[in-house]
Amino acid sequence: MRIGTPLSSSATRVMLLGSGELGKEVVIALQRLGVEVIAVDRYANAPGMQVAHRSHVINMADAAALRALVEAERPHLIVPEIEAIATEELLRIEADGLAEVIPTARAANLTMNREGIRRLAAETLGLPTSPYRFADSLDELQAAIDEIGYPCLVKPVMSSSGKGQSTLRTGADVAAAWEYAASGSRVNQGRVIVEGFIDFDYEITLLTVRAQGKSGEVETHFCEPVGHIQVKGDYVESWQPQLMHAAALQKARDIARAVTDNLGGRGLYGVELFVKGEQVWFSEVSPRPHDTGLVTLMSQRFSEFELHARAILKLPVDTQMREPAASAVIYGDMDEAGIAFDGVAAALAVPRADVKLFGKPEAFMRRRMGVALAAGPDVGIARERAKHAANLVKPVKSQQDE
Ligand code: AMP
Repeated sequence: MRIGTPLSSSATRVMLLGSGELGKEVVIALQRLGVEVIAVDRYANAPGMQVAHRSHVINMADAAALRALVEAERPHLIVPEIEAIATEELLRIEADGLAEVIPTARAANLTMNREGIRRLAAETLGLPTSPYRFADSLDELQAAIDEIGYPCLVKPVMSSSGKGQSTLRTGADVAAAWEYAASGSRVNQGRVIVEGFIDFDYEITLLTVRAQGKSGEVETHFCEPVGHIQVKGDYVESWQPQLMHAAALQKARDIARAVTDNLGGRGLYGVELFVKGEQVWFSEVSPRPHDTGLVTLMSQRFSEFELHARAILKLPVDTQMREPAASAVIYGDMDEAGIAFDGVAAALAVPRADVKLFGKPEAFMRRRMGVALAAGPDVGIARERAKHAANLVKPVKSQQDE
């Protein structure tokens, strides 16, 4: 793939569908390679839009609006950054040869719904997962839970980042879990998955890159495992490397390879796995950079965003880790537009620390507004530094006195 000159007739054009903090870093990586980038999201001034050549605000779940924009912009590559996209239209766009969808339209389509990817992993590929059932009503949910047993998790099939997700320990919670799932679902579909609770020692994201090798064949590369902590289904802290038993690491790679081989295409995937001793379970996969992988901005020679950019452009990748590092999330802590941040200088004075502020126009209590990163001689020290730096950054109302 030749790279042209942006904003000229030779330009290599990439359209990002979703322009949050992860998209912003992908845009920066593409900009550095001289790619013309078009950022799209459902709201104006999204982080990725602020660093792209131009941007559009559309409802990406609207098939006709998506099609019209692709026909107007004629990108060579379409890079989905979020799940809530009219992926059926992406299948048609790809089939019509209008643009190449990264990694593939089928991968975007299957992974936007927990049912598609779970059935593929467990039933088609025979990979170990938590036991599961699907339900479309409160009665079906009760029947599913009776089979799975307690403790278990209830999640809307169309959701991510813990939205609408509950952990049930006793029968008293079932109706509340059903209501909560309906409120957290991306589309008002009401279908949920019930999963048996896995009592894991730790969970990881195995960043897995499918990139074109010298022979022209796609090759699979693994990053060092990223460990992370989730609170209410949302990531708060991550680190690299997560030390693993050699047998568990091999199983994790085998699972990641099986899933990504099946989903195909080029680009970086985030494969989420649960580990207990030498046992490994597949949980989920993102066909794109993963939030827990923000740590690679500090730990790796090339971040997951640079790896994604390279892989999609058919360029070689290098997944080498440079040093142990950690990330800690900085939340909005208030519902307010146009906030400011105090304490950035103090955070940056923490040894080996860095801070990325995403520039989101509006803060919410639990909205991720930035991330603190830190390196260290080991993961323990890196984690302490990253958490310390994140705690020093204080969101404030912009009119508040300095
Ligand atoms: P998900 O939205 O499916 O990625 O789930 C978010 C987080 O909830 C995971 O990263 C785990 O920490 C936890 N979780 C999800 N499913 C299970 C499960 N079956 N057993 C134990 N913990 C789970």
